[in-house]
Amino acid sequence: MYLLDRIEYLGEAKGSRLAVHSHNDCITYKGLAKGSGRLAFWLDKQLGNDKTPVLVYGHKSPLMILCFLACVKSGRAYCPVDVSVPRSRVIEIAEAMETKIILATEDIDMSSAPSVNAKEIYEIAYGTSEEIERSKWVKPTDIFYIIYTSGSTGKPKGVQITYHNLSNFLNWSSTVTGSPSDEAVFLNQAPFSFDLSVMDLYTCLYAGGMLWTVNRNMQRDMASLFSSLRASGITTWVSTPSFADLCLSDPAFCSKLMPDIEQFLFCGETLKPGTAETLMNRFPHAQVVNMYGPTESTVAVTNITITDKMVTSGKPLPVGIPMPEAFIEIWDENGKPVTEGTKGEIVIICDSVSPGYFRNRVATVKNFFTCSRSGRICRGYHTGDEGYMENGILYYCGRIDLQVKLHGYRIEVEDIENNLLKEDDILATAVVPKLKGDVIKCLVAFIVKNSNSANEGYEEIKQIKSNLKKHLPEYMIPKKLVFINEMPITNNGKADRKKLREMV
Ligand code: AMP
Repeated sequence: MYLLDRIEYLGEAKGSRLAVHSHNDCITYKGLAKGSGRLAFWLDKQLGNDKTPVLVYGHKSPLMILCFLACVKSGRAYCPVDVSVPRSRVIEIAEAMETKIILATEDIDMSSAPSVNAKEIYEIAYGTSEEIERSKWVKPTDIFYIIYTSGSTGKPKGVQITYHNLSNFLNWSSTVTGSPSDEAVFLNQAPFSFDLSVMDLYTCLYAGGMLWTVNRNMQRDMASLFSSLRASGITTWVSTPSFADLCLSDPAFCSKLMPDIEQFLFCGETLKPGTAETLMNRFPHAQVVNMYGPTESTVAVTNITITDKMVTSGKPLPVGIPMPEAFIEIWDENGKPVTEGTKGEIVIICDSVSPGYFRNRVATVKNFFTCSRSGRICRGYHTGDEGYMENGILYYCGRIDLQVKLHGYRIEVEDIENNLLKEDDILATAVVPKLKGDVIKCLVAFIVKNSNSANEGYEEIKQIKSNLKKHLPEYMIPKKLVFINEMPITNNGKADRKKLREMV
């Protein structure tokens, strides 16, 4: 059964069951099914034949999810944008999408397109209007959502995921989390503009469970976070490993806090053996599962349950066994598959792979391809990740390019550099990660200024950071700015990032 049919069914059969719980609001399956149907009807009336994707702005409210479903029921893709994205980047996204309407569940001052605020959305969704007909819903080949990720040009790239991509993912992710259960409670940690949230949101709704969201204020305050976790009854934890590390720093994060927990699902960055081991000790009845995949292949394409033997092997943890019918191949730099155990680029070929980036042919052609496997035409994606296969299990070894993961966030350092170069005074810049062991602690920007401009020290650093915040989310702002007289250069004329890494 497809996701929208399933939610409709749950709206009828388990109408009073809570679908989403946030700190100050919640919604039942009936409310979600009916409300999204009414809002979809309204959207369709407003937009007619225009099927341009709709931007949905906000944070963790159940209303966000109602808006997502309304868009797809009206036959339009949605693009979730979190409140942590600065206004100028929201405008950039809205303009790139040419969105005709913004569903703003939180306040934002936007002139790019007419916006409908939370109060108006409530009135439409809980009013008396008709619900949309099923014939208007997105079809399997239509785009279901577009998630914008950091792009190396300084402009974010919109990854398009079709309804079929999502269904392929859900058919598999629901087997990873076990059979559908009314009792399931999924943690939602990642904002909806990050694809990790797709794992908890839709796997949960597909199972008929309850999504328990923790907002960003709670994530900054352990006492309120733990009190929410204590009240939650969470059975399935979905987060980045960084978030689990943060929680583990408090000894109260143990099975007493979440006695119903059955599974920890991790994706998006390296899961350290120490993190897995501590979790297995503190939650002896829960499984720790590592999963791997980029936004471009719909969240994740591999999974593996971590064992005691894996954590004590002294080796990095595996990232998983490919989902059924997925081809995870390792290619050398000439595009030829390598032999078992040899490192190369991880290439994903399966039905979860996106058709490409929204209105970005150059990046689509560069990263995606179509090929034939087992007599079928399939879509493939060059991940830019390095890895190897051993006994059918995938191991991840890092990036081939300049993309980094900081606290679980995907960042192209060139995105930061291109935004720094918007400053008149900056002649050249290179951003490099500062490591502690294998883990990225923060980002450092090396800056060469125009020769005639004076270095004003602290005040200037503050000003540059504050200008950068107008274009980039907080997590992308380098912690340290270092002024240098000259950029070290490699033999082929590029910034010598190896040397700069040694200087941080
Ligand atoms: P995103 O598109 O934000 O999900 O980021 C995708 C990238 O995160 C991948 O290309 C990898 O570099 C990294 N990644 C995803 N899952 C894992 C994992 N289990 N272990 C290590 N890195 C991962």
